[in-house]
Amino acid sequence: GARDTRYRVSVAPAEADIVLTFEDQTATQEAGQMRRDFVANVSHELRTPLTALLGFIETLGGAARDDAVARDRFLGIMSREATRMTRLVDDLLSLSRVEEDERLRPKDQVDLETLLSSVIKGLEPQAQSADVTVTLDVQSQMGPITGDAGQLAQVFTNLIENAIKYGASGKAVTVSLLPPQMNTRLRSEAVEVTVTDQGDGIESHHIARLTERFYRVDNHRSREVGGTGLGLAIVKHIVNRHRGRLVIESSLGKGTKVSVFLPLS
Ligand code: ADP
Repeated sequence: GARDTRYRVSVAPAEADIVLTFEDQTATQEAGQMRRDFVANVSHELRTPLTALLGFIETLGGAARDDAVARDRFLGIMSREATRMTRLVDDLLSLSRVEEDERLRPKDQVDLETLLSSVIKGLEPQAQSADVTVTLDVQSQMGPITGDAGQLAQVFTNLIENAIKYGASGKAVTVSLLPPQMNTRLRSEAVEVTVTDQGDGIESHHIARLTERFYRVDNHRSREVGGTGLGLAIVKHIVNRHRGRLVIESSLGKGTKVSVFLPLS
């Protein structure tokens, strides 16, 4: 077929017979390629702010040494670049921790309403400076679910942060907690949390790729407010660990709705 499948063939002469083993190597080769791409991406993402920092350090030590205005401006840029690197390293650590935990069953009792309120509260300053109001719409009073509290907080932090970043200023972001319902795909009762913004939306051909590491939509908005491109990859891993489902729906010019389904059992 079109796919290049590779086999490793081992020949082991044993007494009178010859034993041939065919082993499909495609998966391991793809994993190797993915790891190489990942390392290349990480290196590139770290290299960019580092190059900028080194350039400014040199300028500050030379030409700009006695220019107070330039010095302040450069220090501002350097601080932003260093913050960007810190965020990248934090996200990489989260991602590796989340991947590590993926085999463990979460076991906290999590009250989603409390968790969502506290996440929204923590994002208040960001929402304010983007002129976005985040509202929590609780459509069902329900008991706690079993999950990993810290990781679920991270899921909703990342999703609400995206809604604030890519939403429209002056418009609302709505976080809804919907009552448990039978979810045929999960074959279980599941609660649904949705995060809806009224931003520019995402072109449909990008949607399937958004949870890939470092995948970013290359548009004006992403360049301007862009994070690390790891946020949704982290979300995806955590939702998988909870045996849940992530659904992204978007309409260009209208906004985006991200739904997280979490099974009750
Ligand atoms: P980033 O750190 O760049 O925000 P994410 O993994 O969280 O990385 O998201 C990947 C990309 O998906 C973003 O760069 C952005 O282009 C797009 N995206 C995510 N959420 C939204 C949203 N609510 N509205 C529009 N685009 C979004």
